[in-house]
Amino acid sequence: MHYNKKTVEDIDVSGKKVLLRCDFNVPRDKYTGRITDPGRVIAALPTIRYLLDHGAAVIACSHLGRPKGVWKPELSMAPVGELLTKELGIPVKIARDVVGPSARMLADTLIPGEIMLLENLRFHPEEEANDPLFARELASMADIFVTDAFGCVHRAHASTAGVAEYLPSVSGMLLNTEIRYLGDILDKPQKPLTAILGGSKVSDKLGVISNLLEKADALLIGGGMAFTFIKAQGGRIGRSICESDQMDYAREMLAKAERLGVKIYLPTDTVAATELAPNVDSSVVPSDDIYEDLMGLDIGPETSKAFCDVIAASRTVVWNGPMGVFEYPAFAKGTLAVAKAIADTDCVSIVGGGDSASAVREFGLEDRFTHISTGGGASLEFLEGKDLPGIACLDDKE
Ligand code: ADP
Ligand code: MG
Repeated sequence: MHYNKKTVEDIDVSGKKVLLRCDFNVPRDKYTGRITDPGRVIAALPTIRYLLDHGAAVIACSHLGRPKGVWKPELSMAPVGELLTKELGIPVKIARDVVGPSARMLADTLIPGEIMLLENLRFHPEEEANDPLFARELASMADIFVTDAFGCVHRAHASTAGVAEYLPSVSGMLLNTEIRYLGDILDKPQKPLTAILGGSKVSDKLGVISNLLEKADALLIGGGMAFTFIKAQGGRIGRSICESDQMDYAREMLAKAERLGVKIYLPTDTVAATELAPNVDSSVVPSDDIYEDLMGLDIGPETSKAFCDVIAASRTVVWNGPMGVFEYPAFAKGTLAVAKAIADTDCVSIVGGGDSASAVREFGLEDRFTHISTGGGASLEFLEGKDLPGIACLDDKE
């Protein structure tokens, strides 16, 4: 998939009203509703500032949580608006609805350099249904559509794809960065390219494994998903997580790798325990001979070393999925070792996947990665080589 989409820098936004789709779906405290991580709002600031500085009036919009088409006051965008006001240092006008009288009145009177925020798009069932009339109503408030919501581009919703039918449509800076880094992995990676895949399930990442095999020089498989591969090769995996219905697929991928001359590295040793608990005793065992009482919860030191050696010899690394149950310190060593090895190279390093990204942040290594993708599901589908509706709908560069 090769995208060559226009960005905000390719068009004249001055004096225009811009409908800006952001991903302001921030994590909030279950009880107080307080925003616990402002990362997604901060990530949208460069595009917002660019638009305001270049004389646009910005109508920002996003979804928050899963209201499922119903008005839920606890999922109001108002706290996001307050955070934006604080970050931008100018007042953000907060609409009380999405396409109703409050939004329209604010949009009509908005002048260049001003910004407003619509209410939660998913208060309307028409948003996720990609209802064309709703999309047209949204679009009718603006002259241009800009999208920076990478986390939502794999969904064809009214605000992510539908509105592009009615307006000139371009990417914001954040989305453009994602397209560039992830696109280069698929189109023109600096070789050797190593793909590291982990996490709990093979079935989540079928398309990614298959597509990356065609691009990469080596594939390192760790995490829970490795056990499906090990069992498919006849190994004993004890009570480790395994998807029996994916064993044929695992064999198919091993055969595909062999045909393409790509080396697949599977764990040779595993940190195992009788149960998944913070202070449980653990031991290092061969990955293909795990006693029936035990489950594999992290890659072992020998595997870590082998993986880190491959990483050190790479010029590009793409990583999706932790090597073990990193949420517990006892099983975080493999994930930490891999993260450190990547941080220590000067290769192009890209992390996709929500849990892998939060592991990297937890380790305090985020500054030493080239790019940490802001979209879990979207980055997976991008790496699968799928055409993503929220990007495909944008105007191509001439
Ligand atoms: P990402 O969000 O980075 O794509 P996933 O969601 O696919 O990653 O997987 C993350 C989860 O996988 C983590 O919660 C982690 O605890 C779990 N995991 C990793 N290794 C194992 C394992 N050996 N057994 C069970 N769960 C695992
Ligand atoms: Mg995840």
